Amino acid sequence: MASRPLIITIDGPGGAGKSTLARELAKRLSWLVLDTGAIYRALAFTLREMGLIDPSPELASQVAQSLELEFQMVDSERRLLLAGRDLGEAIRTPEISRLASFYSAWPEVRQALLPLQRAQAQKGPLVAEGRDMGTVVFPEAPLRIFLEASPETRARRVYEDLRRKGAQVSYERLVEELRARDRSDSTRDVAPLVKSPGVVVIDSSSLSLDETLALAWRLARETFGVIIRPET
Ligand code: C5P
Repeated sequence: MASRPLIITIDGPGGAGKSTLARELAKRLSWLVLDTGAIYRALAFTLREMGLIDPSPELASQVAQSLELEFQMVDSERRLLLAGRDLGEAIRTPEISRLASFYSAWPEVRQALLPLQRAQAQKGPLVAEGRDMGTVVFPEAPLRIFLEASPETRARRVYEDLRRKGAQVSYERLVEELRARDRSDSTRDVAPLVKSPGVVVIDSSSLSLDETLALAWRLARETFGVIIRPET
């Protein structure tokens, strides 16, 4: 019997806490973590830097294919490097969020970014987070989580996160932008954000990170039995 792939997927809307949960779960399991939103953000960042404000889907997908992206451990954090350069917070601005969501609706772009995402699962056991991890990229994952939270909770989390990093943002504007992004991510034709059959839904609205992590940890134990750690 073929062994089950060691992959956990976490999908959900912006601000639900996917990145934090994925990072903490991966740390606890000693697995790798894949933040696919960062890949779409890096593409948006690159297109803007190249001055391509209004590219065709074909051109955007060519740029997507040529992205020199690398995930690396920097100060015990997994970072995304673009041609060796740590993009840091530059890809976390509201403008890049909006652009990433816009380009990510193009099938050509999604197709171009598939190999890069799937290749990460060849490197070792993986916790992958995004919008279509459990539906399109790793549908074979034995544990697929859909993490959600109320729109107010998500907007507050994103707001507090951005303020902590020193960004000047308006809460009302953020709520509007999250709403628009939710709408676009959930209604697009390709790889929309949906709760697929068999996915485990966790509503984190009234849960702390520790509580959410405890739930996910229990699910991982139940799904994989003895957790296999990669050789170090
Ligand atoms: O998760 P994050 O907010 O960083 O993602 C930024 C945008 O990238 C999302 O709003 C979504 O449009 C897009 N995305 C996607 N598919 C993924 C991950 C992110 O379409 N797997």
